[in-house]
Amino acid sequence: MTSPHPIISVVGSLNVDLVTRTARVPEAGETLTSESFDIGFGGKGANQAVACARLSRTQEQARRGEPGKVEVRMVGAVGDDPFADDFLKSLQKDGLNTAKVQKLPNQKTGVAVIIVESHTGENRILFSPGANYAVPATNLLQDDTSVVLFQLELPMEVVLCNMKVARERGVQIILNPAPAVSLPDDAYQGLDHLIVNETEAAMLSGISNPTSWNDVATVFVRRGVRNVIITLGAEGVYYQTAQRYARSQAAKVLPARKVKVVDTTAAGDTFVGAYAVAVAQSTATSSSAFEIDAAIELANCAASETVQKKGAQSAIPWIDEVRGP
Ligand code: ATP
Repeated sequence: MTSPHPIISVVGSLNVDLVTRTARVPEAGETLTSESFDIGFGGKGANQAVACARLSRTQEQARRGEPGKVEVRMVGAVGDDPFADDFLKSLQKDGLNTAKVQKLPNQKTGVAVIIVESHTGENRILFSPGANYAVPATNLLQDDTSVVLFQLELPMEVVLCNMKVARERGVQIILNPAPAVSLPDDAYQGLDHLIVNETEAAMLSGISNPTSWNDVATVFVRRGVRNVIITLGAEGVYYQTAQRYARSQAAKVLPARKVKVVDTTAAGDTFVGAYAVAVAQSTATSSSAFEIDAAIELANCAASETVQKKGAQSAIPWIDEVRGP
């Protein structure tokens, strides 16, 4: 599908993070005073949507309210509680179209209650999916969508139903199967882009202690995936395409950029968002073919900016903050 104004629809989760820091975790029945408390907007869906929006326009364009190279639509649900409006406003401030975020009556917005033990940095997280698990398994995609991006924080039926719709319409599909949950084999058949981290790659390929990323990538290529991208944290990225595999060409590795790491939260989400923007731009005209090497390079550079900052959404860069390779 070609469109002069590519549109990415991110079908995914919206969660509010309630983060409390404490010197130690209270015992049963005990009350402690925390060191700090913060409210943040997250969920893999919302984080990746924000990454797509920021990586398709500059801060200046955002300040002026100008559109980016790509339109980004968030597709999902919030509850009918006080979190909902603030969440949507925050997404709109990042330039996202939120018209397809449903406000579900009698539901709560998804919430993650996070207790961080300050001296160890260890997290204890209690997740209440709320409205995310009440998203209906119906067609949620508008006709003009060029690229659809899924994670697995919504019910599986919602993802599978919308993948089917996207396939029928020839829309490019990107799947970031996080958290790693088994998918039916036919979900991989004809899948355009699969982006997995090491843990997800091992779990979903069925190779529990991989000694060769080539073997892992090959499993997904044989299941029918066209572009397989395995992110390896500080080791960078391993990627293979069905086309290269068919020509017996080896997969490629791009090392991570050497940067001063502060906090790796949202590195994966930034990587996926940047990659999705590159895919979307390649759909803009029939002559702009998708260049996977350039997409991986952009995603690797963008994610390397995120690891240099503390926080989740707040650490995701705008395109003008991404330093080139
Ligand atoms: P997260 O769940 O923390 O968001 P993830 O496990 O999904 O991340 P990773 O494989 O850890 O994803 O990282 C994604 C990408 O981020 C890497 O492929 C790389 O481009 C970049 N990255 C991660 N860690 C580092 C690092 N230490 N230095 C530079 N780049 C990094």
